[in-house]
Amino acid sequence: MKRWGVITGIVALLLVLAVFKLLDQRGVLGDHYESADGLIQEIALRSSGEKLKPEENRPYEGDLLLVNGDHPVRAEGTQPDVTELYGHPELTGRASLMDSGIRLSRRVALKFVVMLDAAAEDGVSHFLISSGYRDKLEQSRLYKEKGADYALPAGYSEHHLGLALDIGSTEGQMGEADEGKWLERNAARYGFVLRYPADKTDVTGISFEPWHFRYVGLPHSVLMQKNELVLEEYLDLLQQKKAISTTIGGSKYEVCYYGPDDLSELRVPKNRDYALSGDNRGGLILTVYP
Ligand SMILES: [Zn+2]
Repeated sequence: MKRWGVITGIVALLLVLAVFKLLDQRGVLGDHYESADGLIQEIALRSSGEKLKPEENRPYEGDLLLVNGDHPVRAEGTQPDVTELYGHPELTGRASLMDSGIRLSRRVALKFVVMLDAAAEDGVSHFLISSGYRDKLEQSRLYKEKGADYALPAGYSEHHLGLALDIGSTEGQMGEADEGKWLERNAARYGFVLRYPADKTDVTGISFEPWHFRYVGLPHSVLMQKNELVLEEYLDLLQQKKAISTTIGGSKYEVCYYGPDDLSELRVPKNRDYALSGDNRGGLILTVYP
C-alpha cells in the first residue's frame, strides 16, 4: 500500500510539473517576467520637485503620442532622428530589410536590435522589416492600396512618428511564425507593444496586425501588456488615475499625467532621471525612472 502511495505521489507531481511547463511555454505564466512586474499601484500625489513650464508644442512630441483616426500627427510629432536603415547593420542587427528605403528613428532602431539579439538567444531570428517611417505621400498611396481596415489616411498613421515598424518573418505569416509569437510575448520587455491586437479591434478601429509594433518605452510597454491595455486605454487610465507606480525587475517607476488644464502644475524631480511625453491630446506624461 505504502509503495502505491509513493507512486501516486510521484505521478501527481510529474503531472503538475507538465502543466506548469505547458503554461510557461504558452506565456501564461508571464514568460521571463516576475509576477509583480507591471502591476498598477495607485499613488496619492504626483511627483514633487521643481516647477517646469512646458513649451506649447510639448503635448505633441514624445514616445507616447496617440495617433489614430481621431488624432492626426502634427509636424513636431515625427522623431527628429529618423534615418535610413539600409547599409547600417548596427541599426538592423539580424533582421533583413524588405527594401533599401526603409527609415526609422535611430534611437528606436538601436532598441529594436537589442530585442532581436534576445530573440536570437531563444533561437528565433528570421525577422524581416517591411516598413518603418512613412511620409504622407507614401501613406496616402498605401491607404488607396490596402483600404481602411488595414491602413489609415495620410496624417493619421503612427508610421509618421518614426516609432512604429512592420515586422514580418521569412518563415511564414507573422500570426503563425515563431517570430510573431516571440514578439507578442516579449516585445514589451524592450519597450515595444503589439499595437493592434486581435481582441482590441473595437478600441483601435484597426484589424489584427501581428506585424505592427510600436515603441512606447518602459515601463509603459510592460504596464500595457500586463494589464491588457492598448494605447488608447492606457492613456485614458493615466488621465483618470493621475499618478501610478509600478515595479519591473525590482526597479520602481512612477508615471504622472497632466491634462491640458493642469499643465501649469507640472513638477519634475530634481535628483532622478525622468522623461516627458505628450499624448497628442493636449496632455503630458511624466515618467520618473528608477
Ligand atoms: Zn504598420
